[in-house]
Amino acid sequence: MSLLEVRRLTAGYASVPVVRDVSLSVERGELVALLGANGAGKTTTLLAISGLVSVYSGEIRLDAGSIAGLAPAQRARAGIQHVPEDRSLFPSLTVDETIRLACGARRPPKWVLEYFPALGELGGRRVAALSGGEQQMLALARALCRDPSLLIVDEMSLGLAPLVVNAFFPVLRRIAAERGCGVLIVEQHVHVALRWVDRVHVMAGGTMAASGTTDEMRPRIDELAGAYLGER
Ligand code: ATP
Repeated sequence: MSLLEVRRLTAGYASVPVVRDVSLSVERGELVALLGANGAGKTTTLLAISGLVSVYSGEIRLDAGSIAGLAPAQRARAGIQHVPEDRSLFPSLTVDETIRLACGARRPPKWVLEYFPALGELGGRRVAALSGGEQQMLALARALCRDPSLLIVDEMSLGLAPLVVNAFFPVLRRIAAERGCGVLIVEQHVHVALRWVDRVHVMAGGTMAASGTTDEMRPRIDELAGAYLGER
């Protein structure tokens, strides 16, 4: 039984489907990447899982239970945390305030900051004064405060230097393995992702073009990149 099972999902905006018949799964302890060119439907798929866009047909199951009828806040309570592409941090809050807000005014669980020790030094710093990498750490730490069973991260690498991107992947892998949660990411850096993720789903034109384990997909990546991922 998968942690997350999406089956034949059709979803979109204002009655217009932009993803069609998409199936994917994420297991506990697994880091999974959703790849695809701009406009392929990756963000829409993630938003549908979190309940933030309209689903027209298909199934979304978390821990074998259907969550299709649940509001976004109920899905969050069921264990889904979503770090959106823009990270949705409040620029005027400090790092400490951001974390405390996520933890219901309590201190964060100690293990959260162990994944991002650099944040420990930045407690009084305002979000607006953080680098892109620090903001991404904070967005991830805030999501972890709820101890999610499924962590969804959209375009984690957006605006980050390659060195910083490289540093995030092992942390996500550890989070998945050590916390036993599933981590589903949308990633533009295909070759970096293939070094770290367990499984890959490739979207193109709103449908699922290919899915497989990283070992299965690695030999096909040039073919897939040419066909579906644009120039990378
Ligand atoms: P990107 O890498 O550019 O974020 P993506 O693979 O995440 O691309 P989506 O953002 O899911 O793709 O977009 C898929 C399609 O849905 C695109 O054609 C886009 O124009 C359309 N779309 C996205 N957001 C909306 C919206 N709010 N209303 C209507 N159409 C939208």
